[in-house]
Amino acid sequence: MVYKLDMHVHSRYSDGTNSVKELIRATKHQGIDGFALTDHDTLKGLAHVKNTRALVIPGCEISTQGGHVLAYGIQECVPKDLPVEEALERVHEQGALAVCAHPFDFLFKGVSNFKAYAFDGVEVLNALNLDSYSNTRAQKRAHNMIHTGGSDAHLYQSMGFAYTLFESLDSVDDVLVQLKKKQNRVGGRVLRAKEYIALSKQIQSSNDRIKHCVLTRLAQPIINTLPLQAGVLIARGVIPFIRATSYARELVSYLRA
Ligand SMILES: [Zn+2]
Ligand SMILES: [Zn+2]
Repeated sequence: MVYKLDMHVHSRYSDGTNSVKELIRATKHQGIDGFALTDHDTLKGLAHVKNTRALVIPGCEISTQGGHVLAYGIQECVPKDLPVEEALERVHEQGALAVCAHPFDFLFKGVSNFKAYAFDGVEVLNALNLDSYSNTRAQKRAHNMIHTGGSDAHLYQSMGFAYTLFESLDSVDDVLVQLKKKQNRVGGRVLRAKEYIALSKQIQSSNDRIKHCVLTRLAQPIINTLPLQAGVLIARGVIPFIRATSYARELVSYLRA
């Protein structure tokens, strides 16, 4: 038997849309056995995780000076905007695991030089990385590290696209031990552009996401053939340009519908 946990889920305690209870209720329907609650810089949602049928891993997505850090098995909040090193120290002091979230995402919210720090693992499949570049690069660079997958869900309908597979789900500790021993696997897929847009429309903080979608969709052929820095620079320049393209028109009419 294999069990699926979506290792990256936000509730409305940060920028997600649903309550923790709603997320828990939706797990089965979304094809997962549980998830890690990884709200930005708060553990408040964990108070609602008691005696539930789904397994919920206490987590957090910490905003550091270098980018987003996922912490699993955390009990105390780590302050935001610390240097990466210090944030990782505080995670490790609690016996929790530090995983680099979406290191190469095109919103530049990941720690792309994660090798320079004491990360335990890397999120090698983030369902919001629509381009074929970001996840692949993360996977290639994450040798000998824990690999995780998650949907970065900001509402319950986007849970379960990407997940992490475990042999057993006896307890939170059981899952953390499997991660530490790298006994887990990663599965699932990224969202399709249409799914991404449809879901983003339902999320309050969706502007960045839609921009990201346009950017990654249109810049992908260029980026795939260029080294990172050049690709990123071109992608940034491409945004104003693409407003005139047919895809942008299609997207705008879709968003207005
Ligand atoms: Zn993030
Ligand atoms: Zn996130």
